[in-house]
Amino acid sequence: MCPVCGDSGYNILFQDYNRRDNIDCSGTYVQCRECSLIYLYERPQWEEIVKFYSLLDSDITANAGQVDVAVLKQQAEKSVPKWKGLLRKARFRPHSWPLEPVPQGSKQLLDLGCGNGAKLFEFVQRGYDVWGVDVGEDAIRVCQKILPQGHFIQGELQETGLPCAHFDYIRIDNALEHVPNPKEVVRECYRLLRPGGQLLVYVPHGRSLSIRLMKGNSISSWIPFHMQLFTPTSLRRLMEEAGFTDIDIYGYNPTSWLPLSLMQLRKRNKNKKQPTLKLNIPVWLSLVCYPVGWLAAKVGIGEELVGISFKR
Ligand SMILES: [Zn+2]
Repeated sequence: MCPVCGDSGYNILFQDYNRRDNIDCSGTYVQCRECSLIYLYERPQWEEIVKFYSLLDSDITANAGQVDVAVLKQQAEKSVPKWKGLLRKARFRPHSWPLEPVPQGSKQLLDLGCGNGAKLFEFVQRGYDVWGVDVGEDAIRVCQKILPQGHFIQGELQETGLPCAHFDYIRIDNALEHVPNPKEVVRECYRLLRPGGQLLVYVPHGRSLSIRLMKGNSISSWIPFHMQLFTPTSLRRLMEEAGFTDIDIYGYNPTSWLPLSLMQLRKRNKNKKQPTLKLNIPVWLSLVCYPVGWLAAKVGIGEELVGISFKR
């Protein structure tokens, strides 16, 4: 059954297996006929998922147990370089929104699936009071060390007991495709936001150029961890049904995603066993892929979807 609209009609898209982490697991992505969501047909139970996460190489995942806390702490204190600030102002990187500096502690920002907290440095520097939730115990421990001024909670969002209508912003940055119950998560976000509050969602696009051309070799196909891949229609529906309004959805081209998909294709043909995300991307490949990815995002088949919506 579709985890967004509940409809049971689907078309089979492609079968795949875990090709990144040497985990013995396979599955089938199907597409909902009603809302167009792409989802794993055989959905692992939460206990199984937790077990799979424990098998992952901590260098390449959000499990932050092995990261160098001292290095992260330095980064947390460094201010954003001028050129980056200018690019952000030109709205090149929606992951940095909201961009406006605020009086210290006046706005509450919650990051769901916060990982090791590196995504939150810039918001702290702009004056936001940051909160983070993550299921990874190690990740939360790192967050507490590098951002002592933040508030971090280990667990699933629905279990955290966070206060109702407390947050001005909630961001879910490449986490919603990992949860077994995206509908419950977005509903909980609605409850936690203040009236006028904003939800910012970043997810891999289930009908992106790489998925269309390379199917399972796209890095967006990640069994069993990517339990669903959104399309603009299904992401909009998820937000609408939770009560959100003024929904804006568009495509984005993260520089590494197309090159990594192409490299995974090559790796598979040579039957090498090396985690995809550890591969260094050659500069020429990034340069070749960037305009292609940028154009794909402009015509609606970009690698990533950004969804912005409001609680009125
Ligand atoms: Zn559906």
